[in-house]
Amino acid sequence: REWYGMVVNPVTGTVDQRETEALRRTRRQGEDTMIDGRMIQHLWTHKTQDHPWLSDEELVIDRAEGVWVWTQNGKKLLDGFAGLAVVNVGHGRREIAEAIAEQTVRLAYYPTTRQFSNRPAAELAAKLATLAPGDLTYSMFAVSGSEANERAMQIARHYWLATGKPGKYKVISLQGGYHGATAGTFAVCGLPQMVEAYAPLQVPGFAKVTPPHPYRDRGAGTDEELVQRCAAGLREAIVREGPDTVSAVILEPILSSGGIIIPPLGWLRAVRAICDDLEVLMIADEVITGFGRTGRWFAVEHESVVPDLMSVAKGITSGYVPLSATIARRHLADAFPADSKQENVHPNTYAAHPVACAAGLANLRIMEQDRLVENAEAMGARLVEGLRGALKTRAIVGEVRGRGLLAAVELIEPDGSGRPLDAKRVADLDRKAWDRGAILYARGSVLRFAPPLCITAAEVDELVGIAADSIEALERDIAG
Ligand code: PLP
Repeated sequence: REWYGMVVNPVTGTVDQRETEALRRTRRQGEDTMIDGRMIQHLWTHKTQDHPWLSDEELVIDRAEGVWVWTQNGKKLLDGFAGLAVVNVGHGRREIAEAIAEQTVRLAYYPTTRQFSNRPAAELAAKLATLAPGDLTYSMFAVSGSEANERAMQIARHYWLATGKPGKYKVISLQGGYHGATAGTFAVCGLPQMVEAYAPLQVPGFAKVTPPHPYRDRGAGTDEELVQRCAAGLREAIVREGPDTVSAVILEPILSSGGIIIPPLGWLRAVRAICDDLEVLMIADEVITGFGRTGRWFAVEHESVVPDLMSVAKGITSGYVPLSATIARRHLADAFPADSKQENVHPNTYAAHPVACAAGLANLRIMEQDRLVENAEAMGARLVEGLRGALKTRAIVGEVRGRGLLAAVELIEPDGSGRPLDAKRVADLDRKAWDRGAILYARGSVLRFAPPLCITAAEVDELVGIAADSIEALERDIAG
């Protein structure tokens, strides 16, 4: 029994010192971690994101383990989006924490400019060379996914300069594509509302082409015809721009921010063939799809395609420390002789940060030991089948789609028109899922799923149950 902050044995009436100390420790931790709204106001994100349904204090995430997160108020939630499709190995892995601690004490920082290197960076680059498809064997590290894409476009540009084609600089991308939040990546962003404000800052002349979106654009034809149509559009765009001016095509194998648009298999092969034919480099943005998310180490493997450059981030460390990489094929690297004294792409201060690379190595060891790529394939199939089964009679569900543990429910108006469901209605699903114990990500007309790859069958079933229940509740609300 508690008496003035002490734990008292109710029979003997004596103070239990050990229990009292434990109670005080818990209280102290609680006090340490309670964040109030006034502090949160200083976070800029507070100004840019609306929290329409809960107070800021209720949205403070305090700790996490596996696929579960807890708010500072103690609410437990299933993390259905792995943060931002980042935490592939799951939360709270002590092995990564220990690797970070050891490396921090041994060598926390040293630059990789002026030919310096460090052990974890070299080991990770060598490891990536074995994991990445084909001869993608040279890694340039950076910090964020945006930077990895900046570097990819810069490497492409330098490659053309080095090979005597200085007129090639344009980068073609996909409508609906997202590659980061920097000025360079905004120039290839296919989400117009996001980049509108920066139009005057952008490099002009970067064409955007339509990706194959089967659910919306297949029509009465086949997937193959859709791929051919979009491939013809890409070829025309490059020819219109002038292949002598086009450096690269950048694309996500699955367009994530654009609404988990999953092009049919055959699309990447078609893009590869066009790039080869017109002498344009292919950059695969695997920032979300990389490191097992789609049930393969990299999504391009579903089609046995080897891009010239591949950008990775997020799952490379599962977010324990920020890290990204641009991985280049041998022929690109060969354009820059090893004895060259001239810098090409300029690395940033934190390129190949030893602690981040140590975290990456520990993360990849877990991915391999726990066979998380295989688990993503199996659990992804279970998730999609489960959602399809649970949602088949829902009038507001147009389609359930997924590849590995990247999945989506496309929501439509219940009037049979097939029109996308009003985004404000769709956004209600975030709250409904939260109330039922899961964090999902509802945006536009799409409810998105990307849980940690360590998710178990029982947890998948729980996620399906919460999503199905939330969608049913939304349908009832709409029906009035
Ligand atoms: N590329 C893709 C496909 C992404 O989804 C993202 C972020 O979500 C990025 C690039 C940008 O990565 P970062 O936010 O780490 O800069």
